[in-house]
Amino acid sequence: MALITKAIKGTQDVLPALSHENQYVEETMLRVASRYGFHEIRTPVFEHTELFQRGVGDTTDVVQKEMYTFEDKGGRSITLRPEGTAGAVRAFLEHGLFNEALPQKVSYLTSCYRYEKPQAGRLREFHQFGVECLGAPAPSADAELIGLAHTIFETLGVGDLALEINSIGCPECRKQYHAALKAYFAAHETELCETCRERLQKNPMRILDCKSPVCSAVAADAPVVLDYLCEDCKTHFDAVQAHLDAMMIPYVVNPRIVRGLDYYTRTVFEFVSSGIGAQGTVCGGGRYDGLVEELGGPHVPSLGFALGIERLLLVMHSQGIEFPQPDPCMLYIATMGERAALAAASVAQDLRASDFPVEVDVCGRSLKAQMKYAGKIGAQYTLVLGDDEIDRGVYALKDMTSGEVTQIAADEFLETFIEKAILAMESDLKEMFGLEEK
Ligand code: ATP
Ligand code: MG
Repeated sequence: MALITKAIKGTQDVLPALSHENQYVEETMLRVASRYGFHEIRTPVFEHTELFQRGVGDTTDVVQKEMYTFEDKGGRSITLRPEGTAGAVRAFLEHGLFNEALPQKVSYLTSCYRYEKPQAGRLREFHQFGVECLGAPAPSADAELIGLAHTIFETLGVGDLALEINSIGCPECRKQYHAALKAYFAAHETELCETCRERLQKNPMRILDCKSPVCSAVAADAPVVLDYLCEDCKTHFDAVQAHLDAMMIPYVVNPRIVRGLDYYTRTVFEFVSSGIGAQGTVCGGGRYDGLVEELGGPHVPSLGFALGIERLLLVMHSQGIEFPQPDPCMLYIATMGERAALAAASVAQDLRASDFPVEVDVCGRSLKAQMKYAGKIGAQYTLVLGDDEIDRGVYALKDMTSGEVTQIAADEFLETFIEKAILAMESDLKEMFGLEEK
């Protein structure tokens, strides 16, 4: 029985009292992204397991340890998406979007699933906002993408995030770097964790991303990828920085960032917070020029980033950022008796259809209990309807802030209320923009 009322470890509910925070950040991110030409794509929560093995990379922690993989009733291996890029690229290929005008710029809000050790900022079901820019080889695309993330944080009022960038080169220059890394780590093989000893053979760059303190200590003196960049990759990285400078976006070059997914080439970046503990990376991304080909498509140089919603909210809370409050109840109609209930239902239905938040009694409670409830939900106006009001055809509207009561003829109520509400909103707006003292 206990299992039924307990959510799965590493998942979390967003209750109605707080969901406006998620809605606010999500709407803001989609809106800012659309200013940069990114429009929403929605892909399924599960895909064929092979897509992630190929798309995320066999040697990554995500594929090796973290995926929720199961067989469906038809015997197919299915995986709940651990990230959003693979699905977006799959859709890009399946629908032949590479034949349309390039770049194709997509954004998404997705739930992601990774079997990780749950802790602050690390969940098994979490949510990402992400963007992918498919078919854009120029360094201006890298800077534009970073600029988009920067603007999102700025719009939300999030301060104190460090932007760290690096280039991990192309497969050509990486050959030499891999050789140098292999030689370095081979000399320290006995100090490495078991997983990293395996990584040493398959993908030595992964060791740089290992979370174990011992491996991190060994990695601290490892050769640095920037010293191995070919001319083209160097020129590209310089141009990305020149664009960021032109856009006045502050950053630091951190040659130790390699990112956790296999498909990255050239530019990689992270936005890191120092205020929420160990899981400080709020947003990570970079260029993945080889991924579309890897998944069976043409050569389409591309890039993207993903931003963890839960970590972003942790940062915003730690910085005391205020969220816009959802619209409060504008009118509560308390009723006594059947005739009043019918009149209230009609008024409420009309006002709600005109976009005003209105509540009526749906519990059959006493007048006193109804008014208590109106107070709890912070209703701005109340109306009490009984046989007397219905017979007289006059309603008494009470402003709950000022206490002022206005008598309104029943057949003029809708019009008068809407006028009043609009006047109140206008005055609030004027006050907000400092146009008039209230
Ligand atoms: P980390 O190094 O923290 O494990 P990652 O490199 O695995 O992160 P990405 O795959 O790049 O992360 O995902 C992008 C973003 O998604 C991260 O920067 C983070 O904000 C968020 N994220 C990743 N994994 C989790 C998780 N298990 N729980 C909550 N948010 C997560
Ligand atoms: Mg991870």
